Order: sequence, then C-alpha cells, then structure tokens
Amino acid sequence: MEVSHNIENHLNKLAIFLTRHLNHIHNLPDDWRDHYDNQNFTSRLERGQERLTSIIDIIARPHLKVVFVGRTSSGKSSAINALLNEPILPMGLGHTTSCFVEIRGSNQNQSWINIPGQEGTLDQRNSERIITSMNELGNALAEHPLQPDCCIQLFWPRSKAALLEDDVVLMDTPGLDVETDFDSWIDQFCLDADLFVWLMNGESTLMMREKAFFLQVKKKIAQPNIMVLVNRWDVASEEEEYWIHAAYEQHVARTLEFFQKELELQVSKSELLERMFFVSAKEQLEQKLAPGSTVRVSQDSLPSVKLLEERNNDWNRFLESLRSQLSCAYKGHRYLPYLDVGLDLARDIRDANDFVSKSGSEFITSKEHEIVKLNATMNDLEEHMEELTKELKGEVQTML
Ligand code: GDP
Repeated sequence: MEVSHNIENHLNKLAIFLTRHLNHIHNLPDDWRDHYDNQNFTSRLERGQERLTSIIDIIARPHLKVVFVGRTSSGKSSAINALLNEPILPMGLGHTTSCFVEIRGSNQNQSWINIPGQEGTLDQRNSERIITSMNELGNALAEHPLQPDCCIQLFWPRSKAALLEDDVVLMDTPGLDVETDFDSWIDQFCLDADLFVWLMNGESTLMMREKAFFLQVKKKIAQPNIMVLVNRWDVASEEEEYWIHAAYEQHVARTLEFFQKELELQVSKSELLERMFFVSAKEQLEQKLAPGSTVRVSQDSLPSVKLLEERNNDWNRFLESLRSQLSCAYKGHRYLPYLDVGLDLARDIRDANDFVSKSGSEFITSKEHEIVKLNATMNDLEEHMEELTKELKGEVQTML
C-alpha cells in the first residue's frame, strides 16, 4: 500500500530527527540540561519516541484488525460466525471466551489452528492442527486449557468468506466481565485494532466493566473507531411495543452519553445511529445455515414479522457499514490518528529545538548551525505530513 509506505517514511524520518535531537541534548553541559529538563521536554519527547516506535510497527503490518468485545454471552462468537457464514467458533461454551481467538484468511482449502505454547502436543506442524468442524475446534480448546492472555490463531479459507479476502483479521475476545487486567489485554491485542465491534446485550444496560474497558482504550488509542451491535434484539422484541421502543431509546441515550461525556468522542446522535445496529446474531446465523428458510418468530403476527424484518435490515446495514469502514481503512483512513500523533510530536521537537537555540546559545554556539538546519528539515517534514493528512481526509470524505 503506497499510502502506508509514504507515512512510514515520514514517521521514520521523524524518529531520526528525534534521536538526533535527544543525542544533541545529551552532549550539552549538565547544568544546561537541567534547565532543559525543567521544561518537561525530555519526558515528553521520550514518551513520544516510545509511541512512535509502536506506531511504525503497526503501520508496517499489512492486515486490518477488527476486534469483537462485549461481556460473556453477548454473542461475540455468534456474530463472527454469522459474518463468516458458518458456525466456526463454538458458541456458549466457557472455554472459548477464556482466551483470544484470531481468525485470519488463508489461501489453502483447509482450516487449521495454531495454539501457541502447545508445541509437540498436536499432530500437525508442531503447534498447528487441521480442523474441519466447530466440534474439533471446541475439543482442541478443551484438551488444552489456555490462559486468558493466550491467543489462538485460526486460519480459514478465504474462498469461503469474502470478508477475509482483503487481509482482514477478526478477533474474538474473552468476556469483559471476566476478571482480567485490561491494561495488558489492550497492549497485547488491541493497540493495533482498526475497528472495535462492541456487542451490547439488548436485554440489559451498560456495565461498568464495559465502560472501563473503552475508557482504558481511549487512553491508549487517540480516537478508537467503534461500531455498536445491540444483540439479542430478538429476545427484547418479544416484549410489548411500548417497552421495545423505550428500551431502544434507552440504549441510544446511554450510549450517546457515554461516547460524548466519558469517551469525549465528537459524535452526534445521528452519527451514532449510523454506527449502532439492533440485531440478532443468532437469527442471522440460522438464516445463513438454512438459506431460504424463514426464522420462526414467537408469535406469527404482523408486528413480529415486521420486527424480524427490521432486525434483518439492521444486520444488512451493519454489513455495509463494516465493508465501507474496512475499505476506508484499507485506503488509508486508519493512518489518520497516527499522522496526528506524528504532527504533535513534530511540533514538540520543533519547540524543543527552538528552546535550545534561543536559551542555550552561550553553551552551544558551535552547534547552532546544526539546530537551525534541523529546524528547516522539520518544517519540511511537518508540511509534508500536513499535506498527507489533508489528502487522506479528502479521500475519506469522498468515500463516505
Ligand atoms: P460470546 O460469549 O459473547 O461469544 O457469546 P456466544 O456467541 O457464545 O453466545 C452465547 C449464547 O447466546 C449462545 O447460546 C448463542 O446461541 C446465544 N445467542 C447469541 N446471540 C444471540 C441472539 O442474538 N439472540 C438469542 N436469542 N441468542 C443469542
């Protein structure tokens, strides 16, 4: 992808300038360095250097990652299965939700799993094992109890699932209600997520643990991209009409309040509704497994048929939106937050350079020339990054 190379190039240059700057500071007399440290430049730039290293790492990875999160039994595995048109992941079984499962496309016709740390215990290529059914995957997982921070890789033929064609990786995660340390969770598995699909339980309200997770994500990822699936809406839809309406409004109001006030995301109600879907993953999977069949509705009445149609429409809207998000991400949208981080860092480096050339001249006269030169290149780089950001934003606008 040309865009990613371009951005990677810019950020690599930035990393070189930053190292040059920090080395330069390191060579200055101690008493002047204290003066510089008092401005918090060192801590800011060193933090920026760390962030930049992980960003460059993420950009260099070619795949797009969609992470499914929600509490246990919210329907994460069912939703992934419905997206892939088959019951690939075991559903409703404790062991599947106790670790991470990453699903990747493969160009081969068979599916296999790779369980880290199980080398030598399985019958295929060390830790790999061919599987042909959901039962086999369930059995393999049950045979090898796994730690919550373990990630199984499941390779699935691209020919069977169009969604995996463009190097998309789907990740199923342990329930957010399971006692875990979100911090290392996010660092290990979610930091490079292009998109979060948040499975909410349509029958109940938001949990503190769900909120705590996204607040932690927000601390680490500048603008997390979140889509909301209010699942099990078939169960909620069995209630009286006024109750269904009230439940719908409550889900929208509470999610909006959480997004705006706690996550501080710039999102209006209509924008939220574009990324919020009231669905039944279970029904979708049933329809995929028996194409042409009609899902049973509890009362064979006009209102319940209409509600089923609404859930189906919302699922189709989810699919379209997911495809469009992935296509945006594929074409470069995913890099915008990283470019913003890069631009902020470029400004920090320039401020620090200015500070050195203005206040430190009595110590660094011989180095002044070098700093001015560095500032000129920084200006150039900043300009290029700003142009790239503008270009990407323009491109995204035309895609939406
Ligand atoms: P996970 O723990 O979040 O991965 O949840 P699962 O996908 O394993 O689902 C847990 C249970 O809820 C299973 O028995 C599913 O069949 C059921 N389930 C999932 N989605 C729905 C839904 O939309 N409606 C109903 N009625 N049941 C669902």
